[in-house]
Amino acid sequence: MRYVGTRGGRQADFRSVATGGLADHGGLWVPEYWPPLSGDDMPALAEMDYAASAALILGKFVGDTIPPDDLSVLCREAYALFDAADVAPLLRLDGRHHLLELFHGPTLSFKDIALQLLGPMLAYFGVRTTIIGATSGDTGSAAIAAVAGRPGINVVMLYPDGAISEVQRRQMTGVDAANVTVAAIDGSFDDCQRIVKAMLGDAALVARHRLSAVNSINWLRIAAQTVYYVRCALRLGSPERPVDFSVPSGNLGDAFAGQVARRMGAPIGRIVVATNRNDVVARALASGSYRPGTAVATDAPAMDIQTASNFERLLWDAAGGDAALVAAQMAALRDQGEIVLADAQRGAIAHMTGIAVDATAMDDAMRWAAERGTVIDPHGAIGLAAARHADLSGGAPIVTLATAHPAKFPDAVARATGKRPAMPARLAAAMARQERVTSLPADIAAVTALLAARG
Ligand SMILES: *Cc1c(COP(=O)(O)O)cnc(C)c1O
Repeated sequence: MRYVGTRGGRQADFRSVATGGLADHGGLWVPEYWPPLSGDDMPALAEMDYAASAALILGKFVGDTIPPDDLSVLCREAYALFDAADVAPLLRLDGRHHLLELFHGPTLSFKDIALQLLGPMLAYFGVRTTIIGATSGDTGSAAIAAVAGRPGINVVMLYPDGAISEVQRRQMTGVDAANVTVAAIDGSFDDCQRIVKAMLGDAALVARHRLSAVNSINWLRIAAQTVYYVRCALRLGSPERPVDFSVPSGNLGDAFAGQVARRMGAPIGRIVVATNRNDVVARALASGSYRPGTAVATDAPAMDIQTASNFERLLWDAAGGDAALVAAQMAALRDQGEIVLADAQRGAIAHMTGIAVDATAMDDAMRWAAERGTVIDPHGAIGLAAARHADLSGGAPIVTLATAHPAKFPDAVARATGKRPAMPARLAAAMARQERVTSLPADIAAVTALLAARG
């Protein structure tokens, strides 16, 4: 399998797209074709556990950079720490509504499903690197959990001081490993991200510290997320009966993974892109105009994003791989602040519906689920509200992705349902640990000095 850039340029193999950054001209890596699920794969997948399914599906993206037996071992290791036998349990809520729980990994958000695989894979490739990132929520703890204690890999994570929940902070600061550095930045999430981007853009600094990034521009993350879509669609659907999905979305990595699974031939019908007031993608799907505004803070912080980085991959796919068109559209975004989708692009993704959900509907969804015996978090609630409001014809099953454990957002859950969610044991342990954190001003020199001091 070869990889191409969404804006054209050089090709690469899986190893370099999984361990490197951007493609040429600032584009994102995508496989040169969507590998199909074969007639033999479908019955085989029905018999397999999660790790074996992951090895089969990821094998199609990995090509010959990892032999199948080695890939199986890596997938076993990645999913060994999940506390649900099936990694991603599926439960029926009511009528056609189902919930796919993706929060049973070490840090209790769906980010673990991809990042738990990244740790073993970087080690397998023998990559020595310092991962640097900015987090407004779940990526930081998931990345730290994935590489804590791994030789040759350091992680430096910046978060905006005072702007993340106590649970989220302690999941990072409570990790006692020499290769983990957590910095509380006196500034906003945007300040943190600006510092990280500037550092990754400094070639000398990148070379000196072997810096790399772990946000959802990394193709491995998307590929790993296709696995639960394929498994779930095969379980509930069949070629004659497709399954619909509702996906709480921010950077659009998760919803795009659903699109990839559909392209591979999994029985998927509609994909609902569920957002809150930060509805840039929902508006683009409805109107054909993608025009980022300014993000507002909500109770679902992972969705408080206005530039959805994976929208570029969707543009590329909807354009049938026309890199020249994507390059022109991304230039228009930079110069005019807007992308206008071509009619053919709109037609190619007509099965995707964007729905923006307000805070009242989010709270209603948490109550609706609670009345049916299931506690869900604010992100999952936005997905469920969108699923219930979307005008989905036919009687197809619809699956809402539950992307975070409710105990990560106890205040919002308690406000909506009147009950604080129970805290899982591994979260309780994190809450009791000593915190290790460095406070820094929002400036590049301070973070660079921190890197230098770490050696
Ligand atoms: C990251 C995250 C999302 C958004 O996922 P994208 O792939 O960025 O669209 C949704 N819910 C939770 C809980 C998250 O942590």
